[in-house]
Amino acid sequence: MHAFEATQTYFNRATRHIDMSDSMRESLQMSKRELQVQVSFHKDDGSVMNCVGYRVQHNNSRGPMKGGLRFHHEVNLDEVRALASLMTWKTAVVDLPYGGAKGGIGVNPKTLSASEMERMTRAFVDQIHDVIGPDTDIPAPDMGTDHRTMAWIRNQWEKYHGFNPAVITGKPVEEYGAKGREEATGRGVGLLTFKLIKRKGRRPAESPIAIQGFGNVGSHAAKFLHEAEFPIVAVSDVSGTYYDPRGLDIPHLLRHTLMHKGSLEGFKECERLPGEALLQTDCEVLIPAALGGVITGENVDQIKAKIIIEAANGPIWPDADEQLNERDVIVLPDILANAGGVTVSYFEWVQNRQHYRWSLDRVRQELDRTLSEAFENVWHTSQEKNISLREAAFGVGIQRVKRATELSGSF
Ligand code: GLU
Repeated sequence: MHAFEATQTYFNRATRHIDMSDSMRESLQMSKRELQVQVSFHKDDGSVMNCVGYRVQHNNSRGPMKGGLRFHHEVNLDEVRALASLMTWKTAVVDLPYGGAKGGIGVNPKTLSASEMERMTRAFVDQIHDVIGPDTDIPAPDMGTDHRTMAWIRNQWEKYHGFNPAVITGKPVEEYGAKGREEATGRGVGLLTFKLIKRKGRRPAESPIAIQGFGNVGSHAAKFLHEAEFPIVAVSDVSGTYYDPRGLDIPHLLRHTLMHKGSLEGFKECERLPGEALLQTDCEVLIPAALGGVITGENVDQIKAKIIIEAANGPIWPDADEQLNERDVIVLPDILANAGGVTVSYFEWVQNRQHYRWSLDRVRQELDRTLSEAFENVWHTSQEKNISLREAAFGVGIQRVKRATELSGSF
């Protein structure tokens, strides 16, 4: 299965009971614009490297399009198209005044030096600068990109269009970024996990957690969940799974990754297992926080968790999702679970436009309020209609986009 087919399946499942014409259905599934560009730049040795870059603009009925840029060797048009449509439903479910987009470059950033990354990023902006902008489409970080990448993008875009830091979010705090943006996705994952556990009448201390991926999202989620007294029994990255049934020493792990370029490699204070073992961990809550498509019809049987929080985008294929539903495993879908990032991106954009700065406390308060409201809405919809949280979240998002499309005649 391909990523876009998976998101279409989720769209179709959620709209089974929504009154919608065929042309509206078609319009909401199609991208408004798909751009593929050649990204060529000089390597440090003087040779030229050619990559393929993308920006897919899925929908703008509710506002300017919004979504991250992913630098990863598996990036392709189908995946970017899927991720762009997820952004439309994500911004709608948390009620941000945005549409959805996504972009990226098919490249393994680990093979590039910092100056090669910079030249590649600037070459990409040279190709897409005309289709992005503070009122049209606002990129942000995703896998393989970070605040430094965003700073280069702002600078390069301004060479064409003049000063306007609101063209991009996820910037360094010293460079028009927002306090709390970096931690935002992980904080949101932590907060929503806590809310869901409370709804299930459980206490954090008796709800062991396993987290797949220890990048920006996984590590911040681990920090917040540890502070909320959840035992984190397993975490993993490309170097393997790190396991302690009594709960890992998360502050120690975080210090370790700081000293080892973000990697868990070499952490000795626990048992070490192969990477695949993470999904099979005996735990209450499983948090996939790495790549998409990791839970499939083939491995879903091995999952022991009762709750899955989709910190990554699209980690569960629809066939596995169906089986999890049948087994009464609760899945908090990506478009709500990881919406903390784009929510604080919105706060950053608002601050840039007003030339004003919020305190970290204000960012956190508004983030917690926005996500809590979205969670309550989705939770009650799922209870009332007796549908999964995924169907409810997609349903809420899709209805809002449909309504905006009808009101403005914007299709
Ligand atoms: N890449 C993140 C996501 O998938 C953040 C997007 C944004 O901040 O615009 O939600």
